Amino acid sequence: MTSAVSDAIDGVRDVLSRATESIVIAGKPGPAADGRLIETHDPATGEVVASIAAGGAADVERAVSAASRAAGSWQVLSAAGRARALFDVAALIEEHADELATLETLDNGKPLTESMFLDVGIAAEIWRYYAGWCTKIGGQTLPVSPPVGNSFAYTRREPLGVVGLIVPWNFPLLIASWKLAPALAAGNTVVLKPSELTSLSALRLVELITEAGLPPGVVNLVTGYGHEAGQALIEHPDVAKISFTGSTATGQRIVTASAASLKKLTLELGGKSANIVFPDADLEGAAQGALTGIFLNQGQVCCAGSRLFVHRSVHDDLLTELETAARAIQLGHGLADGTEMGPLISGGQRDRVEGFVRSGSDQGATLVCGGDRPGGELASGNFLNPAIFSDVRDDMRIAREEIFGPVLTVLPFDDEAEVVRRANDSEYGLAAGLWTSDVTRAHRVAHQLQAGTVWINQYNMLDPAAPFGGYKASGYGRDLGEESLLGFTQTKSVWVSLD
Ligand code: NAD
Repeated sequence: MTSAVSDAIDGVRDVLSRATESIVIAGKPGPAADGRLIETHDPATGEVVASIAAGGAADVERAVSAASRAAGSWQVLSAAGRARALFDVAALIEEHADELATLETLDNGKPLTESMFLDVGIAAEIWRYYAGWCTKIGGQTLPVSPPVGNSFAYTRREPLGVVGLIVPWNFPLLIASWKLAPALAAGNTVVLKPSELTSLSALRLVELITEAGLPPGVVNLVTGYGHEAGQALIEHPDVAKISFTGSTATGQRIVTASAASLKKLTLELGGKSANIVFPDADLEGAAQGALTGIFLNQGQVCCAGSRLFVHRSVHDDLLTELETAARAIQLGHGLADGTEMGPLISGGQRDRVEGFVRSGSDQGATLVCGGDRPGGELASGNFLNPAIFSDVRDDMRIAREEIFGPVLTVLPFDDEAEVVRRANDSEYGLAAGLWTSDVTRAHRVAHQLQAGTVWINQYNMLDPAAPFGGYKASGYGRDLGEESLLGFTQTKSVWVSLD
């Protein structure tokens, strides 16, 4: 480990030492009710960096009742008061950007520049965006025509109550922020359940939220395993809504568990997104977009452009360019200078991705590069060299299932109608990309793709104002934008007699 890496870790030691008390209820940090802990590893070295509290049903119970009790203190604040508090959270995130980015990289493995500009940078903007919404959540006056008498009617957008927010490990701070900020802007109180693999930035965020002056109990944090803390949250009768990001399998479990209390749900699930390069595209831009599309965050991105459809006339040239670039990607500790790609989140995740690499070769695809483990000083981490497969058929597992790792499948195509059909031939529909210089084709194809987001001549763009979510098995409801905010409200129609 270089001295730059150990210095960076030393800089966050305080937070690491507080992690055993990572259950924050009504503003007070504490251990799990039964005292159990979960070790958190640096995925680049395998070393234990901290232990977090393994919360369970008893902790969730306390968190939900604290959130219920805090509802009054949050809703009694004026809209402008809530806005000021959320603006303060945004400012505190920026003030502590270095610390938050270091924690994120240490916990998740991604390069520090990604943590800094993407995770922390966009998280701050999200808090600011929803702070602005607090004073703009209005209802409508309604042109009612009752059969007798005269009435006036209007709608109010009211909070749901206590909401449970369940977050995965790939963008821990960012996804926690894009669920917390709209839920709070709409007047709800919350229980946040981060992934057991990456809870450190959530702990620091909740501390900053307390520092920003939100009343105790408005935001509560329960760290712990999904099948314990998560399961208790989705089954709790007093939780009005679950906003979940994670795997499709867990999403399906949440739908079943929520049936008893008819909870509202927003589900952001898996993906197998198509990225299409037409022959008239700027090939340099397309190559760059394809690389970011699949290798950002080690490919552990729900909207990763994992199926790259390339027109046959430019297929070989683009493939050569991608191979050269992939071989040049510098792997390393996310906190080390010059690192372009970090390790996968866990040994289990790497085993899973390697299983897909084997299946690709077994089913007859050509492994152009990568898919193997680097040696030397990276051998103790969960590293995997970025992989590219060519000669891929649509029915192969690597072309159909979500790999969630640095594995690109390249598939040639011959015409527009064919590629649209093949791109849409997936159980998922989270995102898609297309590269062309023909503006008419760009919009025509974008309208036909069955995906919640389509990027034209770019990939992986994200903004607080743009709704994000899936078609088909990629989930329902939307994060971000006005849609997410409205999803944390319920509409009440109020009738007044004018007679
Ligand atoms: P996961 O489903 O295993 O876990 C996600 C969260 O759910 C974690 O906090 C986990 O502890 C919790 N959880 C697990 N079991 C639970 C249960 N029974 N009840 C309640 N909570 C439970 O997913 P993951 O491995 O953390 O993340 C990877 C997956 O997330 C990928 O499939 C990826 O596509 C998806 N993802 C989707 C989006 C999106 O916006 N669509 C974004 C990021 C990740």
